[in-house]
Amino acid sequence: MIVKTRDLLNHIRCRRFAALARRSQLISIDDDEKLWSFGLRPNELHHFEQNTEGASPDFQQPLYRQVMSHYHDEFRGLVRDTIIQSGCRLVNEKKELRIQFNDDMTLSGWVDFMADSSDSRNIYFVRPASSRILLQEKYSYAKQRVAFFYPDEKGFYQIRIPADYSLATTDFWRKLMQLCSPWEVSGRLIYDIAFHNYLLHKDYPRTRFKLLVAMINSDAVLDKNKPGTEFVSLFDLTFVADQFEQRIETDLYRMINHIELDDDSPVDLVKNACQRNTTTACPFIENCFMHVPKKNSIFAYLQQHLGFREGPSKTDPLHDTYEMINSGMVHMLDVPISWLQREKNLMQRYCVENKFLFLNKKKLKAKLATLVYPLYFLDFEAFPAPLPRYQGEKAFQQSVFQFSVHRLTSPAKDFDRNNCEHWEYVAPIDRDHRRELVEYLCQAIPEGESSIVVYNQTFEEQRLQELADLFPEYRQRLDNMISRLFDLLKVLKNDYAFYSEHGFSKLESSTYNFYHPELSGSYSLKAVLPVFTEDKYKKLAIQNGTAAYLTYASSQFDPEIDQEATFNDLKAYCEQDTLALVEILKAIERRLEK
Ligand code: SF4
Repeated sequence: MIVKTRDLLNHIRCRRFAALARRSQLISIDDDEKLWSFGLRPNELHHFEQNTEGASPDFQQPLYRQVMSHYHDEFRGLVRDTIIQSGCRLVNEKKELRIQFNDDMTLSGWVDFMADSSDSRNIYFVRPASSRILLQEKYSYAKQRVAFFYPDEKGFYQIRIPADYSLATTDFWRKLMQLCSPWEVSGRLIYDIAFHNYLLHKDYPRTRFKLLVAMINSDAVLDKNKPGTEFVSLFDLTFVADQFEQRIETDLYRMINHIELDDDSPVDLVKNACQRNTTTACPFIENCFMHVPKKNSIFAYLQQHLGFREGPSKTDPLHDTYEMINSGMVHMLDVPISWLQREKNLMQRYCVENKFLFLNKKKLKAKLATLVYPLYFLDFEAFPAPLPRYQGEKAFQQSVFQFSVHRLTSPAKDFDRNNCEHWEYVAPIDRDHRRELVEYLCQAIPEGESSIVVYNQTFEEQRLQELADLFPEYRQRLDNMISRLFDLLKVLKNDYAFYSEHGFSKLESSTYNFYHPELSGSYSLKAVLPVFTEDKYKKLAIQNGTAAYLTYASSQFDPEIDQEATFNDLKAYCEQDTLALVEILKAIERRLEK
């Protein structure tokens, strides 16, 4: 059996994993090794696509693999340039590490580059995740928050070790353990390096290495045509990886123990082990969560991650969601009503029990009364490219490539396709078309005071701000658009500041305005639309924002692709997003009339 980092991480999730993996013949895929670190980025999905009931976007899908593979190779080239520019002598590239752990198990990993500097042999690992993952880590020392990593005079990020670090009581050690937890984003990265360090020590027992991890510099801004070596951040993880050598060996024996047990009987579900609805979810989620309903399970309760308290007092026992699932409470209705202390959860419970559509008409009317006609409905599609596409952008910045605008002059309740106008734009892939996109957007939405309806305002607001920074000559127009944004998501959920300013009580201001059992805990556009009208997304070739940006990005690298058909699919998807906003507003206005 060949064991890579991910196999080890999977097998120590729980005792059951090994038996399920053997029965399903789950094997590692070589390519995954270079792609999995993309999955480490924090979730930045548009329109809450990762909701409480739906699955995570499929990061194994071919489109994702094609796009990220391209960026991995581009970044790897930059790391190579960095090594050569630093004066190091390149000794080896893409070197496989293999050691026989026992008769049945071979450990395997890859070193991207080996290079000699004047004072050390450096091992480079290319991990194109954002450097922010490590740079944001801090610990407490001498009553101050101290960053774990600092840049040395050679430009490498070194770990900041306190002078009295041997004291077990310092926060440094506690935080270091946390930093290396395989259940944390940063921890999976460090665990991977510790695993490779273990292989290196077995393969080259007499050699000391410096372990350098190349990540994408999250602060660099592209100021020329193509990203250069300024986008490479190098972290020296030698000290950290050495601390965890023993742990890797212990985990390998735990893995062997799980394999030998070969027991696929159910175990208690554990949040950190299963990692449901994350990019690092266990591949057997479907199997082990089979008894948890797809709709209106206990996970559908808003803020369920805070747990459920038996009574209103802070001293009443608090129960964790997973603990409750393991005791048999899997459906929303399994939770005793007396354990629902949050008003939102009681509202959800009432709706599910009575198949009821809840609308707070008074609050909805107050908010909708602020709409100024004609209404513009706006939606952007953007690509969080791992390396910036155009000047002025940073790594993983949401780079806008498309918009859709619908204009409605008469009340939304009277909407039909004939009484509204539509503008759309998809940037051709041949070069930077952002200026054209802004110019056309300004034509579609003239200056004025009328409302611009969006869903999840933060996303559109940030994109407009970024475009204003890039094109200051349009700042006044784009700032005008920002000042007119009207968030339909806040209409459905809540807008505490608005309601408290408009004379609503503190309690009323904090309650949600709308709920329906079909939402199953999610206010994503795709969850809300079917409550009011037919789900037209199901008929589209592109059905969510992730698929949209991956389709767009892949069209840049794939000469075989039918550009016209692809762009038509993109247009149909983005148009549906703004039409969905119109349809939802129409349905709400009609219900308020009754
Ligand atoms: S889903 Fe959870 S319980 Fe099932 S095998 Fe994976 S980690 Fe274990």
